[in-house]
Amino acid sequence: MSQQGYVAAPPYSQAQAGMGGYSTGFGNPPPQSHYGYGSPPQGYSAPPTGVLKPPSSSPSGMPPPPVSTHYGSNIQQNGAHPHSFPPPVASAPSMSPYGQPPQGAFHSMAQTPPPTQQLTNQMSAMNIGGYGQRPMQGPQSPTSSAAPQYQTSPPPTMGHQPLSPPGPQPPTLGSPPPMATMGSMAGPPMGMSGPPGPGVQQPPMGPQGYPQQPGSPIAGPYGAQMAGPQMAGPQMAGPQSGAFPGGFPGGPAQMAGPPQKKLDPDSIPSTTQMIEDDQTKRGGQVYVTNIRGQVPPLVTTDFTVQDQGNASPRFMRCTTYSFPCTADLAKQCKVPLATIIKPFAIVPKNETPLYIVNHGEAGPIRCNRCKAYMCPYMQFIDGGRRYQCGFCSCINEVPVQYFQHLDHMGRRMDMYERPELSLGSYEFIATLDYCKNNKPPNPPAYIFMIDVSYNNIKSGLVKLICEELKTLLDRLPKEEGAETSAIKVGFVTYNKILHFYNVKSALAQPQMMVVSDVAEMFVPLLDGFLVNFQESRAVINNLLDQIPDMFADTNESETVFAPVIQAGSEALKAAECSGKLFIFHSSIPTAEAPGKLKNRDDRKLVGTEKEKTLFQPQRGVYEQLTKDCVAQGCCVDLFLFPNQFVDIATMGDVPSHTGGSIYKYSNFQMEVNGQQFLSDLRKDVEKSIGFDAIMRVRTGTGFRATDFFGAIYMNNTTDVEMAAVDCDKAVTVEFKHDDTLSEESGAVMQCALLYTTIGGQRRLRIHNLSLNCSSQLSELYKSCETDALINFFAKSAYRAMLNQPMKTVREILVNQTAHMLACYRKNCASPSAASQLILPDAMKVFPVYMNSLLKTPALVGSTELSTDDRAFHRLLVNSMGVEETQVLLYPRLIPLHTMDVSSEAIPTPVRCSEERLSESGMFLLENGLSMFLWLGQACPPDLIQNLFNVPSLGHLSSEGTSLPVLDNAHSRKIHSIISSISQRRASSMKLLIVKQKDRSELFSVSTWLRTRVFTEARPTWTSCATSICFGPDTRVVLLIED
Ligand SMILES: [Zn+2]
Repeated sequence: MSQQGYVAAPPYSQAQAGMGGYSTGFGNPPPQSHYGYGSPPQGYSAPPTGVLKPPSSSPSGMPPPPVSTHYGSNIQQNGAHPHSFPPPVASAPSMSPYGQPPQGAFHSMAQTPPPTQQLTNQMSAMNIGGYGQRPMQGPQSPTSSAAPQYQTSPPPTMGHQPLSPPGPQPPTLGSPPPMATMGSMAGPPMGMSGPPGPGVQQPPMGPQGYPQQPGSPIAGPYGAQMAGPQMAGPQMAGPQSGAFPGGFPGGPAQMAGPPQKKLDPDSIPSTTQMIEDDQTKRGGQVYVTNIRGQVPPLVTTDFTVQDQGNASPRFMRCTTYSFPCTADLAKQCKVPLATIIKPFAIVPKNETPLYIVNHGEAGPIRCNRCKAYMCPYMQFIDGGRRYQCGFCSCINEVPVQYFQHLDHMGRRMDMYERPELSLGSYEFIATLDYCKNNKPPNPPAYIFMIDVSYNNIKSGLVKLICEELKTLLDRLPKEEGAETSAIKVGFVTYNKILHFYNVKSALAQPQMMVVSDVAEMFVPLLDGFLVNFQESRAVINNLLDQIPDMFADTNESETVFAPVIQAGSEALKAAECSGKLFIFHSSIPTAEAPGKLKNRDDRKLVGTEKEKTLFQPQRGVYEQLTKDCVAQGCCVDLFLFPNQFVDIATMGDVPSHTGGSIYKYSNFQMEVNGQQFLSDLRKDVEKSIGFDAIMRVRTGTGFRATDFFGAIYMNNTTDVEMAAVDCDKAVTVEFKHDDTLSEESGAVMQCALLYTTIGGQRRLRIHNLSLNCSSQLSELYKSCETDALINFFAKSAYRAMLNQPMKTVREILVNQTAHMLACYRKNCASPSAASQLILPDAMKVFPVYMNSLLKTPALVGSTELSTDDRAFHRLLVNSMGVEETQVLLYPRLIPLHTMDVSSEAIPTPVRCSEERLSESGMFLLENGLSMFLWLGQACPPDLIQNLFNVPSLGHLSSEGTSLPVLDNAHSRKIHSIISSISQRRASSMKLLIVKQKDRSELFSVSTWLRTRVFTEARPTWTSCATSICFGPDTRVVLLIED
């Protein structure tokens, strides 16, 4: 493996069929039909009239019915179609393919009104927005947040697509098409309000049946939504001219002058304001995914998604929703084209879980040439006998059993009965062709591997784990509808040697088998090692009672590590299943064994060319282990309890390539970290997850996926292998042009994830997304998504730091930021004073995030930071989704001294800046990894009394980390705030209570400050702004204060 993150040379050609991985798995493609090739794609570019969506009798009526119940009726309807979906499991709302954990995220969404009411409300709101507010929006939004010196420049008239109400647009709210097969159904299944009706004039449909954006001549009052590049083009030439005559109040005068040394921090575009504005405009609404290239609400906004042909932004989120048509344009603007895919993202309870499509033994329908799966982008032609692939344009025969007549609009009569024809996301039951060795997989197993060396025994950790497992194992995830979990469990303890346990249900007592030859690891028992917890409960509980006592007197402080992973992987191999290892480990493995590590924490390297070596894992044993684990579908979760350097860069190597998670509890103390650890462990054991996964991202012609970032492993250039993938893991995929893209066809992509469910079923999860393409750079900038961009930059920089000096990595980030903004200034904004910083509206806070990224522990070269902490941070970010990187790079600073205890809501955060920490205030600060309660020296004594039950700040211990639960409104409120924040986060956060100017503050919040998590510091922004202002034309040097 190379050091570039396991990207090896492609052993397989691009043309290789299927998803690879299992060479025998995909069978031979059916003979290709040739008449499609080379012939002009008539049906494609000029779809039959039938492609237009059918009439609607009431454009504004028809709120989508509650999805699940309607699908139920659809299934009955479906009875007549032997090959139709879905199996009964998909019929009820509780039948989610992935059980949502009881503490589902997006908790607040459950409180939204019933869909009908919600939609009605929303439509009223939308009408106001559509007709009334739009003209106002132009000047409003920038001035409200931008300072005189800065100008965010949304393109006039067209510029507010991201800000306008995203909910169902009238054109899409038509009644169901009059389809014979649908008989008495009140509407299309799943509450899909789908086809826009003629009651409202609608734009011509694109080849995929989506409203075609470019140049819609009849955009009418919905121009802001529908207008595309062709209309926007000419107007874009002078963004400042039309809607923003004279710029913003007070702008030009100040802008003309020389840059000021000091800026009012309030003049910097406000991230919190932007988040708040988006929440106000789009929060609580239904985001319907039927419009190609539509920019979704921000990740911080609470909204409900209705899938109508494109994957929910929870699954796929892009850096821009309008790709440049040519490689030259892409090169010119340097805006990365990337999608962050979270294939198992949690679907809130009020949204429809994925439907499961079962085509029986025939398996999913796929394009003969590019192997894309059947999806809404396939165009049926020739009376329904053939279809043209939306990705490679190949004309395919429709298999006999899949044939269906087209309606008078040219659409299949069963379009709304089949998820794969009408939805962005769904699952197929995979056939044996998709299974290893053509055999159905066994259910996965979880193996708990506990380090019982001196430290872990002494801290009480071993006892804590054993106690917890007795109840936790009852909560193993199970397939929907199943009574018990199919996951088997096994137990290993270890220090320098390994102990396996036979916990077969027939035994009266568990039996221990010792393996002391760690150089040649083998699994000493097969029968009785992996068992069903329910059946072996008595023996397992007996074992868990005994383990702490067995090792109570241990003096052994040395441990092994690589043999532990190997043992787990071998055990899964012997049992012919995939699974996960939960390793609870305390120290650097120094015992004589493969994978032995030494302390190589040399901080003298910081700031030198060799700094990168600190983060490069030790190869050899671990490299091979990674390969073995991935091949076996063995995911490794590592819970670390270090008291000193443990070489996380190396110890985290296997977890970070197998879809695993890494948790770290430095200097573990039961009272301090116990609850946090237990909470993490519970979340981890219970979370929804798929095993032995392989993912392929297919694209339309003209561009392709070129790079992948995540807790993944790649054997070739296209197949993303993940021993497991859970609801928190995201893969960031970068795209490059290899040809010209057309505005008409747009850019389509399909992510197909083949995996094994927790019940041992092989499935394919499909996510489809279609984007716009434009030859106007202004379209691209307008459709940018800052949160997604910063996710991409974080991951690419964190990978680059393995191979390049930190200084170079930082310079690349700075230069690219400057280049992107300078390109906008040059090509999309009207001429302006040299000192005026002009930012695209969609990217106005991008520099703030970029500053923050540059100051993250991993990228900041400081000897004050531990190498392990930096390596840990690097690995964490690598698998993060957009929501996680957003809050990490712009932490929430919530004022508590002004909170309204009668309100349910979390108080609105203020700008995350040190200057906001007022002496008379109390703040909660969180970034998804840590949480601080900051107490100002002069914060109100009654608040202290209510929260801590002491009369004043002076009575509080400096080391206090616990917040008592007291019976008063303030106490209840703050606990409710903390718990609702924690529910949204992947890992639990330990609450640290710090007093202003206290010793502990120096080590916590101030460390944060010093490590530059607070990012709106004045000097930094000044120099950044200044240099962009003065070098707008070519390469801009952007000085970011170090
Ligand atoms: Zn194809």
